[in-house]
Amino acid sequence: MGYYFIFTTCIGCGQPFTCHPERVPSLRINPHGQPDPAGTRHPICRTCWDRRQAYRRQHGLPEELLLPGAYAPAPELGDDGSDWGDGGGDA
Ligand SMILES: [Zn+2]
Repeated sequence: MGYYFIFTTCIGCGQPFTCHPERVPSLRINPHGQPDPAGTRHPICRTCWDRRQAYRRQHGLPEELLLPGAYAPAPELGDDGSDWGDGGGDA
């Protein structure tokens, strides 16, 4: 079994990083660069994620859920295209 990940840049800070493509937190941005629920997903790096949660704590907002394995490689798909492995967990 192999693993894969995406290599991308963070929408927050512009730094390159790797992540699980289906679990990494993201912001939806429209073509004008504005947050938009109908926009395209843009991944957020771990540093920006942690900064965002710190901001939320400071302002009395609930922290957001970070999916397990968001910044870990993902097991590759089987030959039949099924499954993402064991269903999650940090690698
Ligand atoms: Zn970032």
